[in-house]
Order: sequence, then structure tokens, then C-alpha cells
Amino acid sequence: MEPVLETAMKQFHRAADQVGLSDQHRELLTSFKTIYRTQFPVEMDDETFRIFEGYRVLHNNARGPTKGGIRYSPHVSMDEVKALAMWMTWKCAVVNVPFGGAKGGVTVDPATLSHNERQNLTRRFTAEIIPIIGPDQDIPAPDMGTGPETMAWMMDTYSMMKGYTIPGVVTGKPVAVGGSEGRFEATGRGLTYVLEEHLSMDGGLQGRTVAVQGFGNVGGVTAKLLRQGGATVQYISDVDTALYHPAGLDTVTAWAHVQQGGSLKTWLEQPGVEADVVDGADVLSADVDVLVPAAVESVLTEYNADKVRARLVLEGANGPTTAEADEILNDRGITVIPDILANAGGVTVSYFEWVQARQYMQWSEEQVNAELRRLMVNAYRTVVSRCPIGSHGDCTQREAAQWVGIERVVEAIEHRGIYP
Ligand code: NAD
Repeated sequence: MEPVLETAMKQFHRAADQVGLSDQHRELLTSFKTIYRTQFPVEMDDETFRIFEGYRVLHNNARGPTKGGIRYSPHVSMDEVKALAMWMTWKCAVVNVPFGGAKGGVTVDPATLSHNERQNLTRRFTAEIIPIIGPDQDIPAPDMGTGPETMAWMMDTYSMMKGYTIPGVVTGKPVAVGGSEGRFEATGRGLTYVLEEHLSMDGGLQGRTVAVQGFGNVGGVTAKLLRQGGATVQYISDVDTALYHPAGLDTVTAWAHVQQGGSLKTWLEQPGVEADVVDGADVLSADVDVLVPAAVESVLTEYNADKVRARLVLEGANGPTTAEADEILNDRGITVIPDILANAGGVTVSYFEWVQARQYMQWSEEQVNAELRRLMVNAYRTVVSRCPIGSHGDCTQREAAQWVGIERVVEAIEHRGIYP
């Protein structure tokens, strides 16, 4: 079993022990409803074809259709997709949206493909998974390496196969084809709302120092919104470059630059940019108030958790902290706001997008953000009511979020019963 799935399973079993889950429910919730693996050809620009491997895993659909992103990365594997699908089940339950969990991906470095090849790959992969996706069945969304354009291609391919436009089959689409206002920034905005709520009794966001690892959809938007909210973002990093400035980096212009196709390396070359290049590992051990890992999984491990100096870890990525690192952080009195709560803003606005698609309605961005804040704050308060901040040793917010997730899924299973 790969470390990421091991982490997801360990987290589940620990929480299951704590809530006294029956062996039968434990077995059910560690099994996967549908596991789909496909190897498929894609035509390249030079008219040759290459074989790619893709996955779609539906974990549990007791609470509704399954929901989860599609990842394009060279590290995508069946175990990774399973872990991410399981986390989606708990995440949807924690924010209380009527979905189960799923995830998918293709083992590919999208940067090595041309625009046309990415489109060919997306359309063929969509055709491969058509039997298991659908607006009432399983609804993909963007994740690492995919975005609104990918979702538009998926929606179009699915719609062409069915013969009419079905916007509710995927979320995270461009607004012009049934996407929701506010979806693109939803995960970072959700993280910001959770942090504001967390700090509301403790002086708020103003002047807090922050380090953000990862500068894509989640990390870039979070770093921008936190700066706009008054925080001092001292560290940011992407896969190649880590930057530091004691007075705070201008993450608003950095994010604008990255959105136009640049990187942190090329941003640094722009006139007027003030930042020092540091080692990537310095971001995780930064002497700041808040650390936001928002890149990939398993970055906080038994080998570096003792070096974390932030008092709060706000998980933007899925699974950034291994089970061993969790214990070390907890022993050291460091609070971790877990992924299945903190980064649930994306799936929450995906739910709003799905509702809008099914009603052929368009909400305003203000409406979307107000509802997002309401659901994120409710979820935060529910979790903290089960394990108050500062309860180190007795419980963690990750365990509490897992309890809420597991209990809500089990409640749905019990109401529905086992067919036949
Ligand atoms: P993305 O592809 O837009 O960005 C990923 C960023 O991480 C890039 O800046 C990349 O350069 C950087 N990166 C990759 N490896 C790195 C490393 N080793 N060190 C430092 N930086 C590194 O992806 P994203 O959508 O922002 O997703 C990031 C994480 O957030 C993933 O774990 C994803 O599953 C999770 N997530 C995403 C969403 C969403 O709505 N996009 C929602 C919830 C959770």
C-alpha cells in the first residue's frame, strides 16, 4: 500500500476506534463502490499515439452522487486515487453537501503535452469513464493539473455522446458554459474563511505571518486572499522556486503573473519584485504563525514535523500530513485544521454549481461567497464543538472532522439499509 493510502486508512481506523464503529461498517467504509482502471491511446501531434493509464474510483455514495476531482500528474496511481476518493467522502459529509466521495486521474505530466494533445487525452479519458459518470451518478471536477478548460472538454465530450448539453456532469467549468461565479477561487476562499473564523477570538488575520507551499489554484488564491485580508505572507513556493520577504510578498501580483502563464521564477525577474530565493524546505519550517501546505500530499512527515515552527497548520492540499507527523505535531501542541474541513470550499461551490446547472440558474458571486462562508463556518464550528482548539492529547480536529464525516455517512447507510 502506498503511503498516501496508508495515511487515509490509519486516519479512518483511528477515528473509527474512537467512535466505536462496528466491524461491518468499518469493512463497508474501507471498501470502494466502483474501481475503474483504463489504458487508452491518445493521438499525438506527430500522428503517432501513446498509451496512457487512467483511474476513476467511487468510494461511497450513501449520501448522494459521488464527487471528486480529476488529477493529471506523473505520480497518479490507483492507491493515490483511492485515498483521495475516501477523503472526498468525509469532506462532503463534513460540509454537509449531499454527495459521496470519488476521485480520478491520469498518470501524465500535462506540461509535456501540447494544448491539442491535452484536449485529445481529456476527451478520450472522458469517453472511457462515461459508463460511470453522470449528473446523478458521479460528477468530476478539477484537481492538480486540470482546470476549467479541462472541465469544458469533459462536459462537451459527455454531452456529444448523449446528444444534448448536460452541464451538471462536471463542475469547475468556465462560467460561459454553466460554471459558477466564485468556483475558481472557492478552495482558497474557503481556507481563508476557516482561518478568519479560527482567529476571530484571537485578534483576527491582520498582521499574521503566513507561509504557503504550492502556488496553483489553492495556494496562489489563498496567498492572494490572505494578503488582501491583512496577513503578511512571508513565504510562497511552487515546484521550482521558494521565495521569502520579511515584510510580506506581493502575492496579488505574483498570482496575477502565474495566472498569465508565468511561474514564481519568472515573477521574480519582473521589475520591482522584492523577494529572496530560499530552499523549498524552509517554507515548511518557517517561523510564521500559519503554515499552509497547498501543493501535494505527504510533505509533513516523521522526518520534518519536529521542524515545523508555525503554531497552526491549515491544510490546503489533500493529505499533506502523514499519520506519524500528525502525532508529532499534536504532541508539540501545534493545531492542524485538517484538509477534509479546511479545503472543502472547492467541493462546496461545486455543489452550488451543480445546483445552478440543474436549475439553469446563475447565482451572483456575492451569493456564492455568502453561502460558502456559511457552510464553511458551520463545518468549522461543528468540528470544534467536538474537539475544542487546544485539546492536545485528548483529541485533534482531524479526528473530530473524521468522526463527523463517518457518523453522517453511517447515518445515511442505516436509513437506506443494505440492498436487497
Ligand atoms: P495546481 O496544479 O493548480 O497547483 C499545484 C501547485 O503546487 C503548483 O504551484 C506546483 O508548482 C506546486 N507544487 C507541486 N509540487 C510541489 C512541491 N513539491 N513543493 C512545492 N510546490 C509544489 O493544483 P491545486 O488545484 O492547487 O491543488 C493543490 C492541492 O490542493 C492538491 O493536493 C489538491 O488535491 C488539493 N485540492 C485542490 C482543490 C481545487 O479546487 N483545486 C480542492 C481541494 C483540494
